[in-house]
Amino acid sequence: MENLKHTMMTKNNLFKFLTISTFLLATSCELKKEPTAASNVQVTYTETAEKSFKLWTWITAEKARTNESFDEEFKKYSDNGINAILINTNGDPVLLSRLVPIAKKYNIEVHAWMFTINRPGDKIAEQHPEWYAVSRDGKSCFDEPPYVGYYKWLCPTRKESREHILSLIEGLSKVEGVASFHLDYIRYSDIFLPIGLLPKYDLKQEIELPRFDFCYCDVCTTEFEEEHHKNPKDFSNPAIDMEWKNFRLNKVKAIVDEAYKITHDNGKLLTAAVFPYPEMADHMVRQRWDKWNVDAVLPMIYNVFYNEEIDWIGYATKQGVEDLKGTNTELHTGIYVPEMTALDLKEAINQAKINGAKGVSFFDGPAITEEQWQTIRDTQNN
Ligand SMILES: [Zn+2]
Repeated sequence: MENLKHTMMTKNNLFKFLTISTFLLATSCELKKEPTAASNVQVTYTETAEKSFKLWTWITAEKARTNESFDEEFKKYSDNGINAILINTNGDPVLLSRLVPIAKKYNIEVHAWMFTINRPGDKIAEQHPEWYAVSRDGKSCFDEPPYVGYYKWLCPTRKESREHILSLIEGLSKVEGVASFHLDYIRYSDIFLPIGLLPKYDLKQEIELPRFDFCYCDVCTTEFEEEHHKNPKDFSNPAIDMEWKNFRLNKVKAIVDEAYKITHDNGKLLTAAVFPYPEMADHMVRQRWDKWNVDAVLPMIYNVFYNEEIDWIGYATKQGVEDLKGTNTELHTGIYVPEMTALDLKEAINQAKINGAKGVSFFDGPAITEEQWQTIRDTQNN
């Protein structure tokens, strides 16, 4: 995964997008929901969130790197005003424990970022081929993943795969000094890819295609049939069956809500990387994040993947902020920095800010250029 991540930075947009596609972050100074757990959490979530617009970045950590190398990287983030880093340790709590004190030295919050339902390289899951999601045309992500080799989606319904995912969340949530567990790939595989990526696959996706439609494993279809007295395998057009759609939205929500309990029981927050705004997330990946129990979301409002301009970042941010009204969930806009000019980046941050985001998160830390850092530093002075 780390290699994939690296590859994605150097190869093409598709890789970049697919790898990034699910994370979000959150921060909060307003966690009033659960007095007991939240009191711990508020302490963890330092004053930074309250006093200013928060700046985050996503990074992937490789175990082989030295502490000195991480120290240098974190110092750079601190020098440029980053308040929080989301670290993907490939689910490794030991590596995460090693990094927390280094980040603390620079007063940077650490968030435990993990690929949640998509689990490439998961040695435990690989021992259980039946845990993987199955497409409408009968192909398992275990050995015939859609789009790219690292799309190893698990079935979100099956007891064993769910428990495995939740145990990984618990492991990272127990790491001392971590501010939140950060859900990424907390969704189904893309039923529709972002429009900007379709040409790379030579694909047309005007309807829900069987190859990209999940999960039709026996556990999912049996459970659905018991409840609704109809079997998705018999549908001539599954896309128009609302119960089937809703069943899947609720399966993702159920994992999030369990994760919320686990993280709060461990005195941590729950944050998530999500698709740009709720209706879009619902349409593309069956992810309805405005209905989740989550402390903060970091929608990946990556305009370039959707052939959209910078002002669309404002549009999507505003939509998400509106949809979250009345909840305890904060929104911090995710910005995809590669290919952005300094001027574009300045406007992207501005669009997030004026449309109600509590902060912005950059994908990803190592990709930020010196010119972009200058822009980031300048925004803090305005
Ligand atoms: Zn299933």
